Amino acid sequence: MITLQTQLKNISKITPKYAAILEKMELRTVENFLLCFPFRYDDFSEIAEISTRNINKTVTVEGIVIKKKISRIFRRKMTIAEIIIEDENKIPLKAVWFNQPFVLESLPEGSSVRLSGKLTLKGKHLNMSAPSWERAGREATNTGCLVPIYSETKGITSKWIRWQIKPLLEMAKQMHDPIPYEIRARLNLYDIYTALVQIHFPDSKEKLLRAQKRFAFSEMLLIQLKTLQVKKQWEANSSLQIKFNEKLIKEFVEKLPFKLTGAQRKASFEILKDLEKPIPMNRLLNGDVGSGKTVVAAIASLQAASTGLQVAILAPTEVLARQHYLSLSELLKKHSLNVSLLTNSYREISADNPILKSKKTKRNELLSKIKSGEIDLVIGTHAIIQKDVIFKNLALIIIDEQHRFGVAQRAYLQQETMSVKDGLGKTIPHLLTMTATPIPRTLSIALFGSLEISLLDEMPKNRKEIITKIIPPKLRQEAYDFIQKQIESGRQVFIILPLVEDSRIMTEIKAATSEHQRLSEKVFPALNIGLLHGKLKSKEKEAVMQDFKDKKINILVATSVVEVGIDIPNASVIVIEDAERFGLSQLHQFRGRVGRGEHQSYCFLFTNSNTQKATERLQAMEDTNDGFEISQKDLLLRGPGQFFGTLQSGIPDIAMQNLTNVKLIKFARAEAQNILDLDPKLKKHPLLASALKKFQEKIHLE
Ligand code: ADP
Ligand code: MG
Repeated sequence: MITLQTQLKNISKITPKYAAILEKMELRTVENFLLCFPFRYDDFSEIAEISTRNINKTVTVEGIVIKKKISRIFRRKMTIAEIIIEDENKIPLKAVWFNQPFVLESLPEGSSVRLSGKLTLKGKHLNMSAPSWERAGREATNTGCLVPIYSETKGITSKWIRWQIKPLLEMAKQMHDPIPYEIRARLNLYDIYTALVQIHFPDSKEKLLRAQKRFAFSEMLLIQLKTLQVKKQWEANSSLQIKFNEKLIKEFVEKLPFKLTGAQRKASFEILKDLEKPIPMNRLLNGDVGSGKTVVAAIASLQAASTGLQVAILAPTEVLARQHYLSLSELLKKHSLNVSLLTNSYREISADNPILKSKKTKRNELLSKIKSGEIDLVIGTHAIIQKDVIFKNLALIIIDEQHRFGVAQRAYLQQETMSVKDGLGKTIPHLLTMTATPIPRTLSIALFGSLEISLLDEMPKNRKEIITKIIPPKLRQEAYDFIQKQIESGRQVFIILPLVEDSRIMTEIKAATSEHQRLSEKVFPALNIGLLHGKLKSKEKEAVMQDFKDKKINILVATSVVEVGIDIPNASVIVIEDAERFGLSQLHQFRGRVGRGEHQSYCFLFTNSNTQKATERLQAMEDTNDGFEISQKDLLLRGPGQFFGTLQSGIPDIAMQNLTNVKLIKFARAEAQNILDLDPKLKKHPLLASALKKFQEKIHLE
């Protein structure tokens, strides 16, 4: 007997060869197979007349086979199967299939047939080349309906999948619906069986939409349950209440060399208010590159440290940590706080080395000062929150550029922040994360529901807009001449190379090295050109970046796999090669590497593509410097996947497609909240609990 758990390889209709392909698609059981949804549908739902009026349209026609013929072209090892059909209009239509002689076996003369495909005119005759077909008496599966198209892997066609899934659908009646009946009834959602039938073989567009809505809702409900649970779990902790010292903060702000933007004020206030609460803050500061997050972090740090508590600031790389150390020491220098830098670099030298010994001693000294509480503010890489670092009273952790930590690492960081060792016992530190990837609002509602969010959606007034230009091949030389002049006037330049399609590391190095060579020998023979690629050791990378910072290098060529998150106020031009290969948000991130000093800055988008679509997309970069606007556009153009970086988020496609659907998200959130209010552990919703458990295994959320 076949059940939902039956292995596909044990189904007699599925040969081992096919079972192996399905296995590669991670489809092992009947249940997996049924939950593999079509990614689009061909609309063959309306039967059209065989008529010259329908020429060049993709249609479904129905008629009687009046003639059939098979011919073989031996030289080309090809067979051509042909039929002629007619409907009431009595206009003959010829349908042709190459190398599918078996088609004719099922279509004897006089039988009635349905064909779906593009109707063309060949000479004087109506023609269809390789249409989908089916006997007209049969239930519409491949023609005459919305025909599901599955993502096909080599060796498997959508037609084959349809043929296999259809009889198995019956099994879906055994599936337990995780969405409680009461919610389904109230929101008028299909039960899981009906929804599955309609998603695979829709009776109409309306029913298909309803089925899709149901699955989008159920996935979103799981996402919301998960984020709300995370939130609740976080809020079950307690933290130290740090009283807002208005006088202190006012003084600090007044002495800044610039006036805070409205957004900076608002965000700072939200953070200071959070710090006063007995439950730990979990807030994301979301602001574009250059929107001034550091000073907001400084305000929060000052408030916490001035009450005698400790603060830790984490950056994704040592270079960035060092940069923060310098800028925060500068910002806070009037406040007699002990600020120190803690990184991991001592580990790289051998144990007998005297330099190491002194470094290690230094580190040990530092650790004991952290433990005694003598140090107020520790800045470093995530080495900070590892086992040997013990604090006296850590009350606030700030994680900068959190999007550069991998997704898994981020979840880990949040876990770790709960278990930092310090003398405080029962409380955990407040947590502020900062990201320079502007996240569109709908996305943050859907996915970052466990966090509070402060937006820095306003740039400091004194900023010069970065001038962005799309550079087609014929203007390349002109751009190089311009770069030469910029360098002669003392500026520096970044050149970013795209990730090589074939992402093997050797290929990447080869491409980067040869471009570096071309630029050094042919284009800028008199200049110093540095090279940064993914295979360099982190020490080597840091050395190259330091040279660039020290102006020993005029042009830094870097592959896009390398994070060049370093502040070079003297850099005034960034060139991005093959710009059309990047998402807008990513281009915007790169662009943010320049325009950080007083010089007018430029971003050149080199492209060899002249397709309308590519230039239209890049055009958005020329049009605006606003990161939120760009990310919103990117969301519409390329969907939400990119906001998770290259790491798979594990979010199902159908939920992905709906991450912009505010109404759906709000519904799901409200329902999730309702469920958890009455049943926090999902004890009364075992089906939902088990669906959530499965879901959690494949998904990573903040
Ligand atoms: P990011 O948000 O990318 O981390 P930073 O905090 O590094 O941005 O700030 C970028 C630059 O802008 C710094 O040089 C900082 O001193 C400056 N800055 C920050 N806020 C303001 C402001 N309100 N007015 C003028 N300059 C500012
Ligand atoms: Mg920053």
